[in-house]
Amino acid sequence: MRVVSLEGVIDEFEALTKDAGRTQRETLQKILEQNGEAEYLQKFGLGGRTDPESFKASIPLATHCDLEPYIQRIADGDTSPVLTGKPISSISLSSGTTQGRPKFIPFNDELVRTTMQIYRTSFAFRNREYPIGNGKALQFIYGSKQAKTKGGLIATTATTNVYRSEQFKPTMKDIQSQCTSPDEVIFGSDFQQSLYCHLLCGLIYSDEVQLVSSTFAHSIVHAFRTFEQVWEELCTDIREGVLSSRITLPSVREAVSKLLSPNPSLADSIRSKCVRLSNWYGVIPGLWPNAKYVYGIMTGSMEPYSKKLRHYAGGLPLMSSDYGSSEGWIGANVNPSVPPELASFAVLPDIGFFEFIPLEKPKGLQQLPKTASTVHYTESEPVGLTQVEVGKEYEIVITNFAGLYRYRLGDVVRVAGFHNSTPELQFICRRSLVLSINIDKNTEKDLQMVVQEAAKLLAAEKLEVVDFTSHVDTSTEPGHYVIFWELSSDTTDEVLRSCCDILDLSFIDAGYVGSRKTGAIGALELRVVRRGTFEKILEHHLGLGSALSQYKPPRFVGLSNSKVLQILCRNVTGCYFSAAYAI
Ligand code: AMP
Repeated sequence: MRVVSLEGVIDEFEALTKDAGRTQRETLQKILEQNGEAEYLQKFGLGGRTDPESFKASIPLATHCDLEPYIQRIADGDTSPVLTGKPISSISLSSGTTQGRPKFIPFNDELVRTTMQIYRTSFAFRNREYPIGNGKALQFIYGSKQAKTKGGLIATTATTNVYRSEQFKPTMKDIQSQCTSPDEVIFGSDFQQSLYCHLLCGLIYSDEVQLVSSTFAHSIVHAFRTFEQVWEELCTDIREGVLSSRITLPSVREAVSKLLSPNPSLADSIRSKCVRLSNWYGVIPGLWPNAKYVYGIMTGSMEPYSKKLRHYAGGLPLMSSDYGSSEGWIGANVNPSVPPELASFAVLPDIGFFEFIPLEKPKGLQQLPKTASTVHYTESEPVGLTQVEVGKEYEIVITNFAGLYRYRLGDVVRVAGFHNSTPELQFICRRSLVLSINIDKNTEKDLQMVVQEAAKLLAAEKLEVVDFTSHVDTSTEPGHYVIFWELSSDTTDEVLRSCCDILDLSFIDAGYVGSRKTGAIGALELRVVRRGTFEKILEHHLGLGSALSQYKPPRFVGLSNSKVLQILCRNVTGCYFSAAYAI
């Protein structure tokens, strides 16, 4: 390691978490001292105070809507201290795949620093249990388009802001995760070409690869689905030492061609391994014999991809990476051997000041206001990092060095335990509702579980749901839920009709069940879409500026997201209405 030893990183983490309450107070003080002159803090009359009590008493809780006008002014070129003492260096665009438009979030060097701290911390813990040798990482990472705001700031995804930072490469070297692909591939302007080259470079260095990773599990699964289509072409390139004509970007061609020379024996070995695999089970350890694990975010909306990932990974361990957002980091996975479904994240108490709004499910049925867009919980006053209780659920509120103060992140977490005095959080779901017509309330997580339940019927047919999303159709009275499925191949109407019934029956929210029984919500509709539809949706989002590295397929498509709805509706090959609840 360049700067500190891995043991040193662990010792530092242990020290920071020993008295997490004290670390929190010191961190808040630092944030407020650095940003004391910010207009936002002045406006609420904080008057230079830096203690948690004054801070909480003066500054209100904020959502993105509250901060948007301030961020917009920064983007428009206002260089006065609006949110931070030092100017904001660039703007991050969050994925925003659900709303259909990316959000603006401030980004500065402090976020780079905390990102590197998180990377090093989780690596130190991971490497203690699964040591990797010197080598390379096959990383499916992609920079996205960089735009300029009206005021001249760079606006791009948070991951791109991190990849293009000066500290990124040295840190990757420190944590033995240097990417097999050259920068031209990571920052190439055509993600299809970048993906092909990531696979090719990964194969060229196949003996050196120690791990396979991406930010989100979706990108790894997407990469190997593509591999199934292009592997023969990759073999030809390696055999002949000539890059496929599908790579047309000159900078990418030049950079990758330099790595390529005719290697018939590698091509033969890849070919013979590929043809021996059964339905691509274990392709990762098969082709990368020295890989020790597969690494990426596998929790939350990435859970549906872990099954397919496990298939590609064969016997290799899957490790869920850390928890953060474009707004800022929260915690590191310091228990890497826990299976991804149970992964938790220990909060780093010096990367921000964290508060937790206790959430309790209200008892009995409640009429939701028509406009409700979040799950209705009974909320209490926010509590501090060290006051949370094991087993309880909270919404996270962050205050950090990027100028976010008491910012409601909108994520629901459950406290799984403590590491020293800092909590280990399990990600539960985004608080926003995806499906709601009247008194029914279903989150992304509910939808995921319902799809998982119905997909069990497909397993017997050796079929799988490639991807899915949902919609509420209120064009007919009463309105009803629509679930879109892309399947790996065709099946019979009979199977799909049964799947549709199970989808309908598996929404167990009392509001939904009640409304279905009384007919206040119509029969659920399953719409099967053509293969490749979700790829088209991905391309559409990348066109809007989101990055493949940070891509989360939308789990709900509303009327406001008309382009994506159009893509879905144009590609429907079959519609089924549930017969469950039929009287
Ligand atoms: P973005 O706004 O694109 O940066 O995405 C941030 C959101 O992704 C978070 O607010 C979470 O909802 C989700 N997310 C990030 N890390 C994780 C994780 N480890 N597990 C589950 N969800 C995550």
